[in-house]
Amino acid sequence: MRKAPVPVLMYHALLDAQGACPGADPHYAVAPGTLGRHLELLAGEGMRASSVRDLLEAGDAGGRVGFTFDDGHESNAAAAQAIIAAGGTADLFVNPSLVGAPRYLDWSALADLARAGISIQSHGHTHRYFDELSEAEIGEELARSKAAIEDRIGRPVTVFAPPGGRLTPRVAPVAQRLGYRAICSSRAGLWRADASAWDIPRLAVLASTGEAQFRRWIAMDRWEMARIGMRHRALAAAKALLGNRGYERLRAGLLAAGPRRGRAS
Ligand SMILES: [Zn+2]
Repeated sequence: MRKAPVPVLMYHALLDAQGACPGADPHYAVAPGTLGRHLELLAGEGMRASSVRDLLEAGDAGGRVGFTFDDGHESNAAAAQAIIAAGGTADLFVNPSLVGAPRYLDWSALADLARAGISIQSHGHTHRYFDELSEAEIGEELARSKAAIEDRIGRPVTVFAPPGGRLTPRVAPVAQRLGYRAICSSRAGLWRADASAWDIPRLAVLASTGEAQFRRWIAMDRWEMARIGMRHRALAAAKALLGNRGYERLRAGLLAAGPRRGRAS
């Protein structure tokens, strides 16, 4: 069991050379140079990127920061290569029904990354929000995605990240029964050493995430964690009040930038 708390980061896509990211939400995308700078900052602190899969197996997470990518956007291949080159690993959470679709990585690219040490895990089979599904549908999403990824990649799928971070207490028992070991949510905070692996918090790296903030995250600054925890609880309350669709409309209205896919994170 891990002895130290660990920050787990949640990325989505990288921007291309034109500063765009077709097929992904720009609000959740970072420049390749920004990811490179994050890896430099880690190395400067004697730390390295690690997949949650590997953190689960490590006796001690000391000196590691969890790196995860949701959705399987095509730009995740370049991101994963940069992480491998820096001596790290990461988890890519993918939806088998979207693998190989335009702007998404295909099975061959995912298999290449898996051979290089990247962990390929489940983001559900489709990208439906789990808080809108019946227990039978939850089971089907978890079982189908696990089977499809294991079949194509040839490695166990043990970690799940719910689309949109929509996690309900019904999900963990079903996931556990199907052979999963952990769930990475979008709850903001650190993964404490004594905490359950069924709701691992993640820190969302956004286009707006500055370097000073990133430094505070990897330093596990307690005031920063208190601040983002409070912000997350306020957003969760807004979601509960407005429902998923009302919340998406509010968020789209507030951001009012770029094409909306309505399916971020
Ligand atoms: Zn997603």
